[in-house]
Amino acid sequence: MSRFFSEKFASLIPYTPGEQPRERKFIKLNTNESPFSPSPKAIRSAAEAAGRLQLYSDPTCKVLAEKVAERYDISPDEVILTNGSDEVLNFAFMAYCDKDHPAAFADITYGFYKVFAQLHNIPYTEVPLRADFSVGVEDYIGIHKTIFIANPNAPTGKTISPGDVERILQSNPDNVVIIDEAYVDFGAESCVPLIKKYDNLLVTQTFSKSRSMAGARLGFGIGCAKLIADLHTIRYSTNPYNVNSMTMAAGIGVMEDEAYTRKNCQTVCENRAFTAAELKKMGFEMTDSMANFIFARHPAVGGGVLYTKLKERGILVRHFEKPRIEDYNRITVGTRDEMNALLGAVRQILEENL
Ligand code: PMP
Repeated sequence: MSRFFSEKFASLIPYTPGEQPRERKFIKLNTNESPFSPSPKAIRSAAEAAGRLQLYSDPTCKVLAEKVAERYDISPDEVILTNGSDEVLNFAFMAYCDKDHPAAFADITYGFYKVFAQLHNIPYTEVPLRADFSVGVEDYIGIHKTIFIANPNAPTGKTISPGDVERILQSNPDNVVIIDEAYVDFGAESCVPLIKKYDNLLVTQTFSKSRSMAGARLGFGIGCAKLIADLHTIRYSTNPYNVNSMTMAAGIGVMEDEAYTRKNCQTVCENRAFTAAELKKMGFEMTDSMANFIFARHPAVGGGVLYTKLKERGILVRHFEKPRIEDYNRITVGTRDEMNALLGAVRQILEENL
């Protein structure tokens, strides 16, 4: 730290992204990326947009907002496009949290929520998940806090129903409830239709997972027009050109290729079911994940040991050194070949350890 760094950030612990190794070719099952390349339409559009990079990108994201609105049956003023969904989450912390509107989120969830709260000096409560890692809906009833819930949750993959989200929304009418649907396209039910009924609901989604565009950095928020206007105020006050023109073009391309996205999601769901069944045969226990990852532990091998031994064999998974989940690994669902390689390696490791 330099002697110039503001004191207000002195104790900030930044978010630690999953490893993104460049030096060796790993089977990457650690950051929940799609195993499939982006839609050919997205690639073509981005390449064309590269030829116009001398111009600023459209700060209104007009065409892409219209495409997203059409897909989700909402109006373009009910959506904001951002630089990954991390950015819309950051905007939500800025817009809807302060000392009178403290944040609340689960103790085991997406690690960035805590970092955003600390970054903006927002008081926060970590609400413990139940012993089975489900979200205790009662714990959020009438708490009068700005609530962030990942649904499906990360790293557990567990969901809560839109009916339960409605109970939370109704009992906290003076606070915004943010439902982070980064993984919703792999089988969970979206809360987007609820934005017509609740002015305190913001849903966030991403192009990083189901749409194979993690490297492009594109996400979005959906809520009533007034909420979205708040977020635009924050956006225009930080980075009006937050979505670059190549990403915007790629986003338009993939929105015009929904069949491609749907097919890939279906393949991931099939591979998830296959891998979960095979891991269960080997004695693994796991949550019922509706995301593009499996969260599993084995009674005979520690989470850290399995992570290290898989890495030695060229397979990267995500292990969290955190109480309650240190026995687990989060394994991204990849192609069938990648899953077979994973299962082969796990079998070997178990044989060595048992
Ligand atoms: N929410 C959750 C629950 C996530 O796991 C992630 C990705 N790691 C994000 C949001 C942010 O993803 P992105 O910024 O790539 O949209």
